[in-house]
Amino acid sequence: MSFVSELITLLLTNSIDFKIMPNYLFSKTAYIKGVQCDKQLYLYKHHYKLQDPLSPETMAKFRGGHDFEDAYRAAKFPFAVDIEKIAKNRNEYQTLTQKVLQKQVADIFEATFVYQDVLVMNDVLTRSGGKWEIQEIKNSSELKPTHIQDIALQYFVTKGALGKELDAKIVLNDGANAYTIIDVTAEVKVLQDNIAANIQRFKNILDQDSVPPINIGSQCEVPYKCSFFGYCHKA
Ligand code: SF4
Repeated sequence: MSFVSELITLLLTNSIDFKIMPNYLFSKTAYIKGVQCDKQLYLYKHHYKLQDPLSPETMAKFRGGHDFEDAYRAAKFPFAVDIEKIAKNRNEYQTLTQKVLQKQVADIFEATFVYQDVLVMNDVLTRSGGKWEIQEIKNSSELKPTHIQDIALQYFVTKGALGKELDAKIVLNDGANAYTIIDVTAEVKVLQDNIAANIQRFKNILDQDSVPPINIGSQCEVPYKCSFFGYCHKA
């Protein structure tokens, strides 16, 4: 999911119940929150409005990420179809992705898939000579474990939905309009069993009638400051 998509999601879901793509149970954003803390996942899905407001620093980070993503995409995939730009609303992302794929388009931005009730949107889905590849664009100069977690889930869902072997690559910011592209396919494959187990565990958590009884601790700020930090710490 692009930075702008995430930002739109965050802004929209502050005011409405965000279930406009009803054929999935949770998104990559929710999955990543679950990896950090069961309670954060549950609150995100069932009590979204309890989140802390976005800080100016977070907004600036979104903008920087969006600018970097735009620059990379324009430089490397000038003829790509951007699902975000052709869709009238987010309900259409998944079906439009299927239509664009049927037209044999080589490069797609925000290619959207659902598999095992999980939704992902790939920054880039590209194919060449029968080989398929997903790319996750990160406005960061170093590869982090969270980047691998991100693209490992995208790999799981995209591969499951497409039924194709994929390569997985992370695009990093090398400064001065340069990009470092790292093939993480091997690392991502190692995580696939773990992802399947996490998805099942998260479904069980979301099925519960009450908030998981998790105490505040070091997980509240690692790897990200939790979006319910204020709520939990005030309580
Ligand atoms: S603030 Fe801490 S305990 Fe509360 S939901 Fe977030 S990570 Fe979990």
